[in-house]
Amino acid sequence: MTKQQKTYTLQTNDSFLEQKKNQLLVAVYDNDYKAAEQIYYNILKYAEADSELNENSEKLLNQIQTIIEKFKPVLLKHSSRKFREYNNRLKTLILNSIKKSSDHIRHVDFQTWEIKIDIDDCQKNLLYKTAMTFQLTCGCSNFCRRCNEWALPKVRSHFSYKAILKILSHMADQQNDEISLYGASDPLDWTEGEKNISDILSCLKKISLEYSILTKVPKGKERLLEKLLGMNSSLAVSITSKNKARIKKIEQKIGNPISKQHDLDELLIRAGLDEDFVSIKPSITDGYGTEITPDGAFIIIPTFTSALYPFGHKKIRVTSTTNFFPVKKTGRKALLVDYFKPLEGYDLNKNRYHLDCLLDVQIESIILDNGADELTPPGMRSLKEYLYIFEKKARIQRKRMTPAVLKRLKKQFISKTAFKNLSTKNKAFYLKKINAHLNLCKKPDCLSSKLSAVSFFLGSISYYVQKNPIKIKIMRFLLKNEIKNNSGTYTDIVAHRHPEDLLTDPDIDSFNIFRYYVFCLLNKSSDSAISKFIKTHPSAFDPVADIFVQYS
Ligand code: SF4
Repeated sequence: MTKQQKTYTLQTNDSFLEQKKNQLLVAVYDNDYKAAEQIYYNILKYAEADSELNENSEKLLNQIQTIIEKFKPVLLKHSSRKFREYNNRLKTLILNSIKKSSDHIRHVDFQTWEIKIDIDDCQKNLLYKTAMTFQLTCGCSNFCRRCNEWALPKVRSHFSYKAILKILSHMADQQNDEISLYGASDPLDWTEGEKNISDILSCLKKISLEYSILTKVPKGKERLLEKLLGMNSSLAVSITSKNKARIKKIEQKIGNPISKQHDLDELLIRAGLDEDFVSIKPSITDGYGTEITPDGAFIIIPTFTSALYPFGHKKIRVTSTTNFFPVKKTGRKALLVDYFKPLEGYDLNKNRYHLDCLLDVQIESIILDNGADELTPPGMRSLKEYLYIFEKKARIQRKRMTPAVLKRLKKQFISKTAFKNLSTKNKAFYLKKINAHLNLCKKPDCLSSKLSAVSFFLGSISYYVQKNPIKIKIMRFLLKNEIKNNSGTYTDIVAHRHPEDLLTDPDIDSFNIFRYYVFCLLNKSSDSAISKFIKTHPSAFDPVADIFVQYS
């Protein structure tokens, strides 16, 4: 195939505080305490100059303070006396911000929000179409023991009632069929005058839009919960040690069980404190799409949870320059997305297409994916599992399934019409899908696809490492044990053989060899054998065949 000409334009630049958080981590990992102190001072100055911290800035400051707390003993030991002063000043600044905004809770009307996001009608329509989360308030009254969203403590602002109804009806107009009414907030916190969430849900009955609510039931909202249950609302209660007894009482009172989530002891860890900034954990973000908050609008891409992304996802602010909106995929559908393939989304004319390359955040996930089963929840495919599809056993299994695959494709394309009546485009799609399957059953084609896939990943990483020295240092730190073990095992094996040879040797684990090359790129940023391999196997992703292919 010929390489697609679409350009990669989705902005994934990090905010100032995100960059500083990463620089601070690198300085701490490198035991460079002088640099850490200077970076921390710069963070403080930036925060002091910001008269009104937005939601994400304050969340990042909380993450920075958590990093400081984690590494405090060494930081205090090796830094000047001023370090403690900076720490206190930042602490006070955050406390003042909490007090100031929670003492004067604002209601954000639709016009104010529209001016803030500053996007045109096309972009707004795509935002509503792909919205998966509608966060009605900023801040949360619960401040639970565990909050992966790093929700700000105490409610700071609400969307106005009218703004909420307007946004919900815009979503329905754009055929968005389901929306989560939470995010980094508890939906039962939302109020305006006498109105509460039950008023919004009553209106939603008249709009063709399904919704879901997850609540911890803030103290004092028990009667509201009973009212919502009486309305047969689509809600679940997230259980913690704090609300368990209260929820049980309500269940006894109403005589019915309440739908529950997270009723597990291992989840009862204090917010922020389960982030150790040294390990890689699975993501709990189960969706691709957009998020609407009183503070703006964001594209959400799931990530592993780590020092790089303590939220377990990347938030990309939607701005006037955003021209790619990922197709919304939530729950099971999101698990089926292979995070290492170029994403499918909409251009500004609402045409669906696949990007021809990976976003930085996807490349970071490839680098961090160490193949451990714990990292990928059931239903999600890891890169290790993906590389397995090119192995002999998988190929033979696939061959056996050919009649079933052909039957499925036949049903998909020609159950309602004859082949000759298909459009030219659908004829080509149908044939391409058949050929893709048949080719992957043949050994040479299967191995060639494998080399194309590996070349695509290594090429993407090779490009990424040149632009992201700080994040590479963080990832090297997070992966240091794996890097040590892998190089101890594979350095000699790799020394005298070409990547093609090693990657197609049935007696060698391809994933481990791939990891070896990834670590070469992380350490040296270029390696002649890898560069030659990437050049010899120029590859692209073919979204119709759903496979990486060599392009000419
Ligand atoms: S209720 Fe949800 S958003 Fe609020 S602090 Fe708890 S986990 Fe976070």
